[in-house]
Amino acid sequence: MRGRATIIGAGVAGLATARALALEGWDVDVRESAPALPGTGTVLGLWPAALEALEAIGAGPAVRGSGVRVEAAATTGLRTPAGKTLIATNGGGKLLLIRRPLLLEILADGVDVTFGAEVAGPRAVDGADVVIGADGTNSRTRLAVFGGQYAARSLGAVAWRGTVEGAARSHGETWAPGALFGISPAGPDATNWYACLSAGQPFDPPHLQHLRDVFGSWRTGPAEVLKRVTEAGILHHELLEVPRLPSYSCGRVVLVGDAAHSMAPFLGRGACEALVDGVALGRSLGASASVADGLAGYDRARRARTQRLVGISRLVGRTAMMPRGFRERNAVLQAAGAVMGAAGSLKRR
Ligand SMILES: Cc1cc2nc3c(=O)[nH]c(=O)nc-3n(C[C@H](O)[C@H](O)[C@H](O)COP(=O)(O)OP(=O)(O)OC[C@H]3O[C@@H](n4cnc5c(N)ncnc54)[C@H](O)[C@@H]3O)c2cc1C
Repeated sequence: MRGRATIIGAGVAGLATARALALEGWDVDVRESAPALPGTGTVLGLWPAALEALEAIGAGPAVRGSGVRVEAAATTGLRTPAGKTLIATNGGGKLLLIRRPLLLEILADGVDVTFGAEVAGPRAVDGADVVIGADGTNSRTRLAVFGGQYAARSLGAVAWRGTVEGAARSHGETWAPGALFGISPAGPDATNWYACLSAGQPFDPPHLQHLRDVFGSWRTGPAEVLKRVTEAGILHHELLEVPRLPSYSCGRVVLVGDAAHSMAPFLGRGACEALVDGVALGRSLGASASVADGLAGYDRARRARTQRLVGISRLVGRTAMMPRGFRERNAVLQAAGAVMGAAGSLKRR
């Protein structure tokens, strides 16, 4: 079917959905509260399913042309702060890294976005067959439809992240009780970094000295990266997730992206799933005879899968920063890494 859709939010989810619906012949308008697309932001890693979604909405070539493949030879893996390797892996070339502002710019090309247009809630939207809440983790659309018990909840952890110029000598994640530090390539001459601490509340600025105090002595590269970080280049926030919703739609209103399933960042999948949501919703509405059927088809295609990822991502974070039992965990990881390594060398023979 065809119809008219209003999308609340011009993030990855809203823009991908707008493109997918336009391809199905829908008349789409996007309302964004911010005055413009963001000019700054860190790097997102896009997995193959997200790249397929980008191809489906005609953004594949531009994203592939602007992103950077993780070098197949780039050594990544898990280590302890003392530098002991738990699991060594190769980057593998399947992940494409792209700066978030660039991805948004590509997605917004050709989409009708009204900036500076804050929407009070789905009831404030007239004349649309479908209202799409793509308004992020603290979605007003979700609260209006499902109520305050579905407000995003704290995961008891906070994160800092940023991108610095220059390559880093080593990549990968370092796991310690209550803390984690990650370093990944962000291009031929840039490095993405992130740090997490188990903590109830976000920290007050300044952040840089605090990060150096906590992570500076780790032997896995944080000091080298933090030397290049500036206070202004640090993003800091609490980690949140959305409780399991009973449905991703209600009446003519439907949720996509973080509004539906905001998750901890430990799988690096939030934006990827937002892209896949957009394509799934566009296809389902385009192929259905009614809005009700189209929204039900989207819910069937996406809810169970994304809610499973929310749980797995939370578990990975808890396992990474577990305060007790980490020696046993490390022994299991090292043994698993050795088995995987042996299997790899047998295959190569
Ligand atoms: C530390 C960290 C690292 C991450 N790394 C990765 C990664 O490597 N790979 C990956 O796939 N994902 C990653 N993610 C997740 C990813 O950033 C998000 O899942 C993704 O950006 C969600 O997009 P969205 O469009 O759903 O929401 P948002 O990006 O939050 O967009 C929502 C938009 O709605 C607008 N809005 C809100 N309310 C209103 C309103 N009332 N009216 C109008 N507009 C409104 C907002 O201004 C915003 O532009 C990471 C997240 C974190 C925290």
